[in-house]
Amino acid sequence: MNFDLNEEQRLWQRTVHEFVAKEVQPKAHDVDVTSEFNWEATRKMGPLGMLGLSIPEEYGGAGVDAVSAAIAIEELGWGCGSTALAIAAHNGLGTSPTVMFGSEELKRKWLPRVASGKNKLGALALTEPGAGSDLQGGVTTKAVRDGDMWVINGAKMWCTNASIAEYIITLVRTDPAGGSRSLSMILVPTDTPGLKIGPAEKKMGLHGSPTHAVTYEDVQVPLGNLIGEEGRGLHQTLATLDGGRISIGAISVGLAQAAFEHAVNYARERKAFGKPIAEQQAIQWMLADAATEIEIARIMVYKAAWLKEQGRNYNKEAAMAKMSATEMAERVCRNAIQIHGGYGYSSEYPVERIYRDARLMTIGEGTSEIQRLVIARHVLAEE
Ligand SMILES: Cc1cc2nc3c(=O)[nH]c(=O)nc-3n(C[C@H](O)[C@H](O)[C@H](O)COP(=O)(O)OP(=O)(O)OC[C@H]3O[C@@H](n4cnc5c(N)ncnc54)[C@H](O)[C@@H]3O)c2cc1C
Repeated sequence: MNFDLNEEQRLWQRTVHEFVAKEVQPKAHDVDVTSEFNWEATRKMGPLGMLGLSIPEEYGGAGVDAVSAAIAIEELGWGCGSTALAIAAHNGLGTSPTVMFGSEELKRKWLPRVASGKNKLGALALTEPGAGSDLQGGVTTKAVRDGDMWVINGAKMWCTNASIAEYIITLVRTDPAGGSRSLSMILVPTDTPGLKIGPAEKKMGLHGSPTHAVTYEDVQVPLGNLIGEEGRGLHQTLATLDGGRISIGAISVGLAQAAFEHAVNYARERKAFGKPIAEQQAIQWMLADAATEIEIARIMVYKAAWLKEQGRNYNKEAAMAKMSATEMAERVCRNAIQIHGGYGYSSEYPVERIYRDARLMTIGEGTSEIQRLVIARHVLAEE
């Protein structure tokens, strides 16, 4: 594998970085304080291709390679965790199932709409009040056929983008008998009668990334809104999450990079005992560890993306990248606060926001414990 980015990827990285530095990063503090999603920047992402990273050009997307997609999400993470999570969820969770498994009709109808930046985004609702890690055993939201319609009843939890989405792809039980072929994915437009989106959840961080409970009361959508095959919802979910995990890893690398840069600048400026704290070996070690760990995680994220691009199995590598990058981000952000001393604990400095934003990453799209289960399964099968 060649770890060097090619010329096209470097140009893309520069373009996205400049965009994020101008439109996203300067608003990150306000987004956190006001809990307002950054629509202004998001609208401008459409023409740049950032809302259709994996959507082929024929459906209005940018169709960039998987490493370039990870780079875009990493740069967003560097600029603003909230905006990064919303855009990552839109691309990875809200559009990928349709790209990978949707019918031609669903692709033509919805993908250009959500990639343009002129409309709302996409969302995916897997988690329920009683089901997160164990979707197969726990999902109770059900869909039954009635003539040419699906009728959906149930409740979802923690749905990123629900209030800023055109539709919510919903994981439902279509076979009450249970088992690995009992779940399906159905695209539910958010203006469908009976679908209710609860108020934004009050969270520790990521305040500008709206998260909601969603309820379905006799929600009716056409049979054609089924994504992929009936009964393949679990398989499709796992495939979607493999890609999503690369994105969460990429956000984490971006968040850590931002915290690290703040820490380096602060260490150079802050004086104690007559010299900049950057001259203290204890501070240098924290910075050296951070620089090294960020680089390791970045390479792991890019490697998983590269395998995805090659069409190879990347389930293990995505889990490894997600687990190592998210746990790395927590350490790096924690130490960035440590380097800032008391000021690091103040909301006047960005590192406390970045730390709060980073905390979600070991939980969303599969906890670190679930990543370890996935990795262990591979390791035990291989050795
Ligand atoms: C801000 C935010 C945004 C989110 N966005 C979305 C979204 O857009 N769509 C969506 O569907 N979901 C979303 N989620 C939900 C998220 O994916 C789940 O919270 C996550 O998968 C964990 O599920 P849970 O919360 O039910 O925890 P549980 O599954 O109840 O787990 C609780 C604890 O038990 C551990 N555990 C569970 N099973 C095992 C096991 N077999 N072995 C070892 N440990 C285990 C877990 O690791 C965890 O530590 C979001 C959550 C948050 C907080």
